[in-house]
Amino acid sequence: MESEYVKSVFDARELPRDRLTEIAVAGKSNVGKSTLLNKLMGRRHLAKTSRTPGKTRCLNFYRVEPDKSKAFYFVDLPGYGYARVARTMRRDWGNLIEKYLRHPDRPAGLLALFDARREADQPEEEWLEWLRSWGRPFLVVLTKVDKLSGNELARSLQRWRRLANGPDPVLFSSVTSQGKDKLWQWIDDVRLTSARP
Ligand code: GDP
Repeated sequence: MESEYVKSVFDARELPRDRLTEIAVAGKSNVGKSTLLNKLMGRRHLAKTSRTPGKTRCLNFYRVEPDKSKAFYFVDLPGYGYARVARTMRRDWGNLIEKYLRHPDRPAGLLALFDARREADQPEEEWLEWLRSWGRPFLVVLTKVDKLSGNELARSLQRWRRLANGPDPVLFSSVTSQGKDKLWQWIDDVRLTSARP
């Protein structure tokens, strides 16, 4: 599998025009998004951690070329903390992300990442609903599951299952690679049914 960082988009006019399928990956800073992307792409340092100043208000495009199928993009939506969604929505970042999601055939699917240790409370619920409202195939991914005991994990899964209200959340760990195959399965399914297969 080949993968490369392509660009950071700060303005909707800079979005790629090559019509490759796009899989968006959303999550609050520190949720483990860069680590997950690197794990899926089989690279150690390709996706930068979102803490780099100035790099948080953009969409990062990674082009992935799996061995036996057509290339596609992972689109990293960094720094998108959901606590202040309503307020930031009208600002530049909200504008860009809305313009992106309003596009009829992009992205083909959305991965919404949550730290498995977090309680799902109101901001999470609102953010999840907002992401779902775009009507795209949607999957909740619970990250860092290696940090939880079996019991804690069962409780966490039960909560998130109720909230996800769709496909079963995927339990993911970049330490053990748990969930990696399931994620690829979902991504491949979405790509097959996408308007840009
Ligand atoms: P981002 O801000 O969402 O891109 O988060 P990072 O990928 O930079 O991860 C934030 C921190 O969580 C880093 O210290 C990672 O090493 C750690 N981390 C990420 N994924 C996992 C995981 O699956 N298990 C454990 N134990 N730590 C993780």
